[in-house]
Amino acid sequence: MSELVKRPEPTANAMSQPYWDAAAQGRLILQTCGECGAIRHYPRLLCDRCYSDQVVWTDATGNGVVHSWTVAHHPFHGAFADELPYTLVTITLDEGPRALGRWRGDGPRLEQRVSGKFETRADGALELVFVGAD
Ligand SMILES: [Zn+2]
Repeated sequence: MSELVKRPEPTANAMSQPYWDAAAQGRLILQTCGECGAIRHYPRLLCDRCYSDQVVWTDATGNGVVHSWTVAHHPFHGAFADELPYTLVTITLDEGPRALGRWRGDGPRLEQRVSGKFETRADGALELVFVGAD
């Protein structure tokens, strides 16, 4: 990490605090609508399908398939300059929603099976990381 630029960090709020608490335990959890059962990610106030604010948090497997990716060759923020190049992947989770995370290892390939987990970076930040599962 760059010593000159502080890495931007997410700010937990009442709505997202359960997500970050679970992440600190190494668990990926998703919001499930308490009315219609739709599963959503990232945490948000209302259900995309029925607009209910009723939420039940459920554990996700972290497994899914690669939907898309990009390789960053230029940092969108100075704190990431020392990490270039790095790959960000969008994963279609087995539970349905898509999640964004870092890629580790060779690849990725479209539709590649992956598993994901939270890693704690040297600076203490949590990062959702995906690796190939096949
Ligand atoms: Zn709903």
